[in-house]
Amino acid sequence: MIVQLRHMGIRDERVLQAMARVPRERFVREEDREVAYGDHALAIAEGQTISQPYVVARMTELLDIGPEHHVLEVGTGSGYQAAVLAELARDVVSVERHASLAEHARSLLAELGYDNVRVVAGDASVGFAEAAPYDRILVTAASPGISPELDRQLAPDGLIVAPVGDEEMQHLVVRRADGRETRHGAVKFVPLRGRAGFRP
Ligand code: SAM
Repeated sequence: MIVQLRHMGIRDERVLQAMARVPRERFVREEDREVAYGDHALAIAEGQTISQPYVVARMTELLDIGPEHHVLEVGTGSGYQAAVLAELARDVVSVERHASLAEHARSLLAELGYDNVRVVAGDASVGFAEAAPYDRILVTAASPGISPELDRQLAPDGLIVAPVGDEEMQHLVVRRADGRETRHGAVKFVPLRGRAGFRP
């Protein structure tokens, strides 16, 4: 998987090494273990998905995480991306709206020894003010925009990476605390729900 990610243009060795350390096969359904390292998204419980490795790598690269960073992830899903973030950051708060997914990810991450990740069940379309400010915020669900609450929870030198667009297609957006934005490749995520998400 790492060789393939390099070929696909992922350059940040810290990200590649972090992904090499996380056992992706533990985050997919048992019947998918043999295909866990292919470059595709896979279904998990509650009609949600674990993102394809290239997208995980690209978003993590865009986040430019340092070992001192306090990170918020919106959309824990399987917990895989949270584990990759935890390999690179000081600590991670990951919020998931499906309580059953949050519970599963929490116990798996604890079993794998990721003691710098806190998984919370709830709506994080408006962030998670209790543990703000964050140096980095990663949204891993398709978003109609970046909510003002997320902006307010970002530290002065912070960065937000989010897939922004409609429910069919999004672009990866990197937004800085001063409001400057850059747009990167096209992606397709399951929708963000909740107060600042898409209406079902
Ligand atoms: N990062 C995940 C992983 O590594 O497996 C993949 C995330 S999946 C593409 C998107 C997740 O966002 C789903 O699990 C979904 O339930 C969650 N989600 C959607 N809206 C949310 C919200 N408002 N707050 C928290 N989680 C949300």
